[in-house]
Amino acid sequence: MDYLQEQTLSCPYCGESIDVLIDPQDAGDQYIEDCQVCCRPITINVTTDSMGNLSVSAYDENDVY
Ligand SMILES: [Zn+2]
Repeated sequence: MDYLQEQTLSCPYCGESIDVLIDPQDAGDQYIEDCQVCCRPITINVTTDSMGNLSVSAYDENDVY
């Protein structure tokens, strides 16, 4: 059963903590979510570790290669 997981990230622009809902089916994907505070586009990278736990990383758009 799939369910959304709430994760907390720090915005790479303004440093504020923001909550994002992650769909486990997005693991391995990147997507863009606008910061709830400064409204700039954060690139969010969704990965799973060896235990199958989701983890998320936030990048500013200039970090993406
Ligand atoms: Zn921000």
